Amino acid sequence: MSYQLLNGKEISAQIKNEIAEEVKQIIATGGKQPHLAAILVGTDGASETYVAGKVKSCKQVGFKSSLFRFNNSVSEDELISKIKEINADDNIDGLIVQLPIPEHISENKIIETIDPKKDVDGFHPVNIGKMTIGLPAYISATPKGISELLKRNNIETSGKHCVVIGRSNIVGKPVSILLSQKNETGNATVTLCHSRTKNLKEITLQADIIIAAIGKLEFVTADMIKEGAVVVDVGIHRVKSDKTKSGWKLKGDVKFDEVAPKCSYITPVPGGVGPMTIVSLLQNTLIASKKEIYK
Ligand code: NAP
Repeated sequence: MSYQLLNGKEISAQIKNEIAEEVKQIIATGGKQPHLAAILVGTDGASETYVAGKVKSCKQVGFKSSLFRFNNSVSEDELISKIKEINADDNIDGLIVQLPIPEHISENKIIETIDPKKDVDGFHPVNIGKMTIGLPAYISATPKGISELLKRNNIETSGKHCVVIGRSNIVGKPVSILLSQKNETGNATVTLCHSRTKNLKEITLQADIIIAAIGKLEFVTADMIKEGAVVVDVGIHRVKSDKTKSGWKLKGDVKFDEVAPKCSYITPVPGGVGPMTIVSLLQNTLIASKKEIYK
């Protein structure tokens, strides 16, 4: 079967252009430049790369960004007081704390300290709760990006069997809720699988759409896929390669080379879900600056 790529790189570039145009209009009519603040704790390579990508993207669309860095030894109290300071700063529209954070700091406490009005990552329980019952809310970036990627490729979800593999709070669980929502980008019949799921392959073989968010390199193989399925690969793994200048390349949770020929659509890694995640964060920041959800 000949498959089509769900090209997140191309679609995210289109959305960035749309955002940049809107920012120009806002500024031309005397409005405020959207402003995203990011907190980065420590010097983890992957987190550095993700935050640098977010800061760069802000610049590309005309947003202001502020990066606040802390050492790994920062205390929970110090971090909380910085978040409260940013919450109170009217000039800042959105705030993200790059995860993971060191183990001596409670992730839940940090997330719950962020003002839901500025929680453009959509991790705060208030936003997750609102999203779950279908109220306007910041939807976390990766699930939102996946939904947008399907929508802009005219992939029908209504009545389809979507199998989500992985139940994390930032990907699997929210994407399963979005796809089962009673609206035009939902209406799917969703099965949420995880490490205790029995007969995973029997379930994935019934899937019209598979969302793979397992965090295991090339976990999804061709024998797990129905002919003509749509496959969205969320996984990001850095693997050694002697074919690239950097000495490594990115791969996903799906064994692309053998799975792709069975698919109607599939996301590449890189260039699929990753860029859609960043652009969704930009969309949320724009929504925050326009006070569309919270006044
Ligand atoms: P996570 O928190 O590690 O969760 C992994 C999920 O996979 C868990 O629910 C786990 O089940 C399930 N799982 C593990 N082994 C399994 C198995 N053998 N069979 C079925 N399910 C299994 O992962 P995450 O944060 O959602 O991230 C997943 C991947 O996406 C990672 O590679 C991450 O780097 C990547 N990611 C990419 C983006 C992006 O923008 N592209 C954004 C976020 C994450 P249990 O709950 O039972 O443990």
